[in-house]
Amino acid sequence: MRVLIADDSMVMRMMLSHCVEEMGFIPIVAQDGAEALELAFRDGFDIAILDWEMPKLTGMEVIRQLKEHPRTSYGHLILVTGRDDQSSLIQALNGGADDFIRKPLVPAELVARLRAGARIVEMRNRIIRLAETDPLTGAINRRCFLERARIALNDAERHQRSLSILLLDIDHFKSVNDTWGHAGGDVALQRFVSVCETSLRPNDLLCRFGGEEFAVLLPETNPYVAVTIADRVRTAIETTNINHDGITFRVTASIGISGIGTDGLDAALSRADAALYAAKRAGRNRVELAR
Ligand code: GH3
Ligand code: MG
Ligand code: MG
Ligand code: MG
Repeated sequence: MRVLIADDSMVMRMMLSHCVEEMGFIPIVAQDGAEALELAFRDGFDIAILDWEMPKLTGMEVIRQLKEHPRTSYGHLILVTGRDDQSSLIQALNGGADDFIRKPLVPAELVARLRAGARIVEMRNRIIRLAETDPLTGAINRRCFLERARIALNDAERHQRSLSILLLDIDHFKSVNDTWGHAGGDVALQRFVSVCETSLRPNDLLCRFGGEEFAVLLPETNPYVAVTIADRVRTAIETTNINHDGITFRVTASIGISGIGTDGLDAALSRADAALYAAKRAGRNRVELAR
């Protein structure tokens, strides 16, 4: 758990980060609201402990801004304040705080509230992971891929960087199932994903698009470089032994490639799909760049 701590009092910062460390969590410490926001956007966090009264930006203002951005909107936010009236509590919760601690701060209460917050964060992370990944292969699913691809496309446009997409489809997969059984087909899908992942770069995004079809987003990659990458993946697949139930077999894949341009993601996907079908028609186990 990464815990963002923002307080203008040094004594409080030391006390809070000591508690956080004692719990085995990682403190990220800011001296005011502006620094808290900067660290939150740059490094992310799971739980934040925010002092209400701080110079530059108050804890409530920090909460408002954290809630506005998708990257920081899910953090568990604990507001700390010397105010002890009920209307402040109501104001804090209505303003987006998830929890509220009154000063003077008792370490045992802080620890208990952090523990409760950590339970919520763990549950949230688990739900997000389940919602984003394909259970058979562990690759991200189509919904998550499309969401991240749209973000990557915005980034690429803003920084004028190129972006490419691959669509991969395993060849004659129906006959893999028919020959080695559905369980053999499942093992082939798992192996396929692990081979793709090892032949791609860490920032490339692989997803199970559906059935035996996969998509890869290649950041900072023009379509010509994408062809080279696709062919490396294709070769890796073709030469990989799949072991299941005492037998060894191999599969091949056809790959369609397209750059993602100003006409958007859907247009790029349909170009890549057309290229994929051209690769199928041309005999399979091939890569084809969209026209
Ligand atoms: P092509 O070379 O034209 O792509 O032929 P293909 O047989 O691969 O294509 P087709 O679309 O006819 O068949 C896809 C098969 O993939 C049919 C389906 O049962 C199988 N499949 C889809 N999802 C899974 C899965 O999760 N596990 C297994 N074992 N098979 C799956
Ligand atoms: Mg203060
Ligand atoms: Mg297929
Ligand atoms: Mg298919």
